[in-house]
Amino acid sequence: MSEVQAYPSSGEPPCVVVGAGLAGSLMAIYMAQRGHSVEVFEARPDMRVRQVDGGRSINLALSTRGLTALAGVGLEEQVREMCIPMRGRMIHPVEGEPHLQPYGRADQFINSISRQGLNELLMNTAEAHERVRFHFEKPCVDVELDEGVAHCKSGERVAREASLLIGADGAYSAVRQRLQRSGRYNYEQAYLTHGYKELSIPAGPGGEFLMEKNALHIWPRHDFMLIALPNLDATFTVTLFMAFEGESSFDALKTPADVDAFFRREFPDAHALMPTLTDDFFENPTGSLVTIRCSPYHHGERVMILGDAAHAVVPFYGQGMNAAFEDCTVLNALLDRESDDFGRAIAAFSEERKADADAIGHLALYNYYEMRSAVASPYFVFRKKIERVLHRLFPTWWIPLYSMVTFSTIPYAEARARAARQDRMLTMGLIAAVVLLGLVMLALLVALSR
Ligand code: FAD
Repeated sequence: MSEVQAYPSSGEPPCVVVGAGLAGSLMAIYMAQRGHSVEVFEARPDMRVRQVDGGRSINLALSTRGLTALAGVGLEEQVREMCIPMRGRMIHPVEGEPHLQPYGRADQFINSISRQGLNELLMNTAEAHERVRFHFEKPCVDVELDEGVAHCKSGERVAREASLLIGADGAYSAVRQRLQRSGRYNYEQAYLTHGYKELSIPAGPGGEFLMEKNALHIWPRHDFMLIALPNLDATFTVTLFMAFEGESSFDALKTPADVDAFFRREFPDAHALMPTLTDDFFENPTGSLVTIRCSPYHHGERVMILGDAAHAVVPFYGQGMNAAFEDCTVLNALLDRESDDFGRAIAAFSEERKADADAIGHLALYNYYEMRSAVASPYFVFRKKIERVLHRLFPTWWIPLYSMVTFSTIPYAEARARAARQDRMLTMGLIAAVVLLGLVMLALLVALSR
């Protein structure tokens, strides 16, 4: 085992962040702004100098929780310039014209943003602090939990003692795997039987968008769905979500002819805009979708995890990154409250964040059903309309679930519980309205028959 490198100057070991992804880079900025020196260890090469195979979503939906966390380090305005507002879901039926279902009030929208662009901005901002150093191609391979030492290796092995070691190394976190071996550690992971594949729609001949720019496009087909998010270069990143095996599945699409026929039949308007469909389909990987729940998120006084490392969720609420960013807001607030006593702050983080992380995990799973199926149902659309009217009439008393999750910072668990209450009230209200209508009609019939 390599020697633990003592830290120079001040004597206080640095804060060590494992993972220079979205959450790790943002947390590095927060810690630097709090006056701590920070060392970030990232497994992959520096994406700013070498093309890194992202493997996952080229663009992401950024909403209020993420923007709030970015505002906390002064980046909101810069980030907004990188965004394309999406005001609603543009639903594409198999036949007929697409129609827009607004997400909320006219001033409420979510934002399509490039994962790479955002990650690079965060890394550049972190690196602009003289207290922050990034080490690329240095994957964390082990952690000494009680001592707060990270072991990172690629060629030469580095052991770095940390005053606070933050595992922000994603769903397959090495830091979490070490926690799992610490005894009495709760951990569960569940894969969907569905996976995803990214495809694309190019810009038009004059560099224009070939579909409505300010919308998240959905082709709901019950057992599977296609979605598309706009990019600044007028292209769309298209994602097919579908079962791995079965009748309509990735497995069943074996040849270019299969893929072409499937898209022509199920998504005719998208098919017409996808000249590289079959090449993209067979070149791009099929990703899996995992939900991870674990607890606690910390060990002792010095080690913790956040973001996907602590609570990976399926992408159907567009909240994984937003929740990971909100972790940074929450941890920063706890560090304020506990006057940078790391031990107390990370224990409070575990305690306070778990219910919210679980709640968004559940909501994200449910939303897959809503996106691929419910949005196409007239009853669903009708209920959403009533909810919008109620929200307009009583803006603080009645807030639709989607708005609480996406356009507010109401804790996820509270939003989920409140929405369940609203749902019951709406169902009871609708039943009462139907019964009342029935009684009125009956009374009319009786009156007319006299
Ligand atoms: P990551 O972004 O995974 O970053 C982890 C980093 O750690 C990576 O750089 C990785 O290389 C590094 N790393 C891994 N192992 C090690 C190691 N051993 N040592 C050092 N470094 C390591 N979220 C949204 O909010 N909105 C969306 O619209 C959205 N769409 C999505 C679509 C898809 C298809 C998928 C799969 C996810 C989507 N998400 C979305 C979720 C979002 O991508 C994640 O929640 C987010 O990336 C989590 O950030 P993170 O920093 O915790 O983890």
